[in-house]
Amino acid sequence: MPGGTDQTLRPFLWRAERMYSDREIVSRTASGIERYDYRTYGERVARLAHALEEGGIEQGDRVGTFCWNHHRHFETYFGVPNVGAQLHTINPLLPDHHIEHIVSDANDRVLFVDPSLIEQLEGPAESEAFDAVEQYVVMDEDVPETSLSPVTDYESFIADHPTEYDWPDLDEDQPAGMCYTSGTTGNPKGVEYTHQMLWSHTMATLPASGLDIRAEDVVMPVVPMFHVNAWGMPFTSTAAGAKHVYPGPSPEPADLAKLIEEEGVTLSAGVPTVWLGLLEYGQENDLDLSSLERLIIGGAAAPESLIRTFDEEYDVEVLHAWGMTEMSPIGTVSHLKPGMEEWDDDRRDEKRAKQGLLVPGLEMRVIDEDGEEVEWDGEEFGELWIRGPWVTTEYFERPEATEEDVEDSWLKTGDVVTVDPEGYIKIVDRAKDVIKSGGEWISSVELENALMGHDDVSEATVVGVPHERWQERPVAFVVPVEGIDEEALSEELLAMVRENYPKWWTPDDVLFIDEVPKTSTGKFDKKVLRERYDDPSLVEGNVPEEAAPDATD
Ligand code: ADP
Repeated sequence: MPGGTDQTLRPFLWRAERMYSDREIVSRTASGIERYDYRTYGERVARLAHALEEGGIEQGDRVGTFCWNHHRHFETYFGVPNVGAQLHTINPLLPDHHIEHIVSDANDRVLFVDPSLIEQLEGPAESEAFDAVEQYVVMDEDVPETSLSPVTDYESFIADHPTEYDWPDLDEDQPAGMCYTSGTTGNPKGVEYTHQMLWSHTMATLPASGLDIRAEDVVMPVVPMFHVNAWGMPFTSTAAGAKHVYPGPSPEPADLAKLIEEEGVTLSAGVPTVWLGLLEYGQENDLDLSSLERLIIGGAAAPESLIRTFDEEYDVEVLHAWGMTEMSPIGTVSHLKPGMEEWDDDRRDEKRAKQGLLVPGLEMRVIDEDGEEVEWDGEEFGELWIRGPWVTTEYFERPEATEEDVEDSWLKTGDVVTVDPEGYIKIVDRAKDVIKSGGEWISSVELENALMGHDDVSEATVVGVPHERWQERPVAFVVPVEGIDEEALSEELLAMVRENYPKWWTPDDVLFIDEVPKTSTGKFDKKVLRERYDDPSLVEGNVPEEAAPDATD
C-alpha cells in the first residue's frame, strides 16, 4: 500500500498517550468527579484489551455498550476497535423491542452497562434476542443486585491485566464501530463504521474547517456517546490531545453549568434542547460561561435566536452543524467565510443559522422532484445527496434499505435543502416532514424557528395535517412560557407569521401543549403529534382564502 500504513484509530491513542500524557480526562459519575491523565487512560485501555482477549473476544466480534458519557465508556472507544473488535454503542432510550432487535441483529457478545441502566436492560435481556451475549460488565467498582448473568464489574474485569498491549496491525476496512439509526421510520437500521471512516472523519473534523479542536481545548461532549460516537468528539479530542470532560448519567443544566465553570470547558456540543435548557437555567441562576468559547449545536435545527443569545449574552460562538448516523456523523458546519464577520448582525446571523458548508472531503448534489440538480440560489428545494470517505454506502444486512437510500455511492439523506450562492446549505425539512399545501411547499423548520424566536414560547413545532381542499395545512404546537395568556399569544404568533411569510404559510391553528414529544435522541417527534392530531376535524378552520398561490379547485 503506497501510504505505508492503514488508516486506523491506533495512532491517535499512541500519540495522545505519549505526547499529551499529562492532559486530563474528567468524568462526572454517581460517586463524584473522577479524573486521570492520558497516561493512565492508555494503561487502562491496554488492560481492557487484555480482558476482552481473555474473555474470548476476537477480531470481528461485536461488543455492545449501554452507557452514558463517562471515562469507562471512553475506554471502550479505543480498547474495543484497537483489538479488531467492533464497538456497538446502544441507545438506552430506545423502546425495549428496538433494543432487542438491535442486540440480536448485531449479535453482541459482551455488553457493558451503566449501573443506572441495569434495570432497563433486565427486561430485554430475558428475551431470546440476547442469546449471543456471554458476559455483562457493569460500569462500576461493584455489581448491584441484578438478574443479568454472568455479570462482573468493570474494575474487576480489567484489574489483573498488564498495562501494555501489543496492538495489532489492522486493515482499515475492518469495522471499528456501529450505531443504529433511531428508527423514527420503522425498525432501526445498522450503520457500520470502519477504521478508515472514523480516521477520515477525525482528520476532517479536527481542523478549523471542521470543529476546530486543539490541544488547549477542554472538550465536553454532551451529545451522548451512544449517539454516533458523540459526533466523533472522543476520537477528535484524543487526536488533538485536548482535555476531555464527560458529564455522566442524565446531566441536568446545573450539572453542565458546574462542569463548564469548574473544569474550564472551552468547547461543548449537543442538540438544541440541551442549550435551551442551559439558557433557561441561566435566567434564574448564576451561569458563568466565561471559559466557553464555542458550542457545536446540531442534530436538529438551531434556532437563530439561540445562536444570537449565546453570542450577545455570553460571548459564545455557536457553530451550527448538520450530520447523520450514516455520515459518522458530521457533514456541514456553519463557519463564516472571510469578510462575513463584518456583515450587519441580521445578515451574518442568518448565515450562521444555516446548516453551513460541507466539511472538506465531501461532495454534494441537491436533486429536485424531476431528478434535476437545483440552482444554488437559496430558493430552489431538493433532496441532499452526499458522498465521501466517511459516508456509509451500505446498511448492515438491509439490502432493501441500501437500495432505497444509496445510489452509486451517493447517500440520499432524506433532507430537503436549499443552497445559497455562497454554498451554504439550509435544511428546510426532512423529506417526510415537508408540508405541501395546494401544491406548494411550506418549510416547517422555518416556521418553527420563527415561533421559537418569540419570548413567550418555550418550544414549538409545526406539522402538516391532512386537509380536504389543500391536501395539507400547517398546524403549530406550542409550549408557552408559564403563566402566559394563550389566546393573546396565539394571536401574536399568527400575526408574526403573517407579516414575515407568504400568507398561505400561516398555521391553521395554534394548539398549546405541555411538552413537545421527543425521540430517543431528543429531537421533536412529529410522528407522535401527527398520529395524535391527524384528524382534520381537530383543526378549526381559519384557513386563509388564498391558502396557496397555485391552488386549483
Ligand atoms: P435519525 O436519522 O435516526 O433520526 P440521526 O441523528 O442520524 O438520527 O438524524 C439525522 C437527521 O437529523 C438529519 O437527516 C436531519 O434531518 C436532522 N439534523 C441533524 N442535524 C441537523 C441540523 N443542524 N439542522 C436540522 N436538522 C438536522
